[in-house]
Amino acid sequence: MEDKMFYEGLIEEDIDKLLRSPKSDIHNHSTKGCRIAWLEERINRSLPKPPEVFDGLWGMQEWFTSEIKPYCSGSEGIIMRWEGSFAEAKRNNITRLAMNFGAKEIELVGGMDVFRKMIDCYHQAYCPDSVFEPELTYVSMCDVDEEVSKIEQYISDGYFKSVDVCGGEDIKPAEAFLPLYRKAEKYHLIKRMHVGESGSAEDVRRAVETLGLDEVHHGIHASTSDDVMRFLADNKIQLNVCPSSNVMLGYAPNFKEHPIKVLYENGVRVTINTDDLLIFNSSIENEYLRLYRAGNLTAKKLDEIRKIGLGIA
Ligand SMILES: [Zn+2]
Repeated sequence: MEDKMFYEGLIEEDIDKLLRSPKSDIHNHSTKGCRIAWLEERINRSLPKPPEVFDGLWGMQEWFTSEIKPYCSGSEGIIMRWEGSFAEAKRNNITRLAMNFGAKEIELVGGMDVFRKMIDCYHQAYCPDSVFEPELTYVSMCDVDEEVSKIEQYISDGYFKSVDVCGGEDIKPAEAFLPLYRKAEKYHLIKRMHVGESGSAEDVRRAVETLGLDEVHHGIHASTSDDVMRFLADNKIQLNVCPSSNVMLGYAPNFKEHPIKVLYENGVRVTINTDDLLIFNSSIENEYLRLYRAGNLTAKKLDEIRKIGLGIA
């Protein structure tokens, strides 16, 4: 029975069962959403594997820029990596996929119309039955007013389902992004933001309250405050957590002590996601398996989290 397959897959550590079970990935940076192995095959050369731990976000960026990007750069490289992200959705039976895209990338490939056609084509070719929810993302160092003045060309047609800000929490206070989130609200986008990855529990609460966030990408440090966890649970704010990313960037000590356990057990809605598969080299079934093997959460609880991601729990 399909419903038991994922649970059994964990208990038996059966990769095939885990791969075949329907899963979601809703915190996925599209240009880094493909597998290293997929890219290696496509460019016909081997690529280095990531270190166990990076020197923070900037160390990660530097590694990607020097070790991976030279072999898949420019618009051609971006398009190839997008294709690889959909190929992974097919391989891993990701039936709900939310990937984020930057306005710069959309322009690089020729603007919104060209972008939409290309992405829809990959979606249809690889995983037509998967629910695909494109997310528009901005880096925190962006010029907010300038981006707000241009945002309608991307969101007015309803293609994007959510908005996000990523790329460092300590660049600007949450308040600085208010004009962006007001616009997103006008167009009924789901409002998400990267917060509580390096930042504190209070940073998470402030961002949610100030910007009216529906969901938080990461948010793991909310686990240090009973108050903030209660706030998130009461308001049904979902955290889209990425375990390997957190451990490899040093924001969580290890898989056994990863804060997703505390968050889940305090009633906070959590999902499990890959963040940057091309960097962290851990595909979605492996994210669940790592937490299970480490004794972080039971197979039953991990299956429950899988269902939250699919919107059926
Ligand atoms: Zn992320």
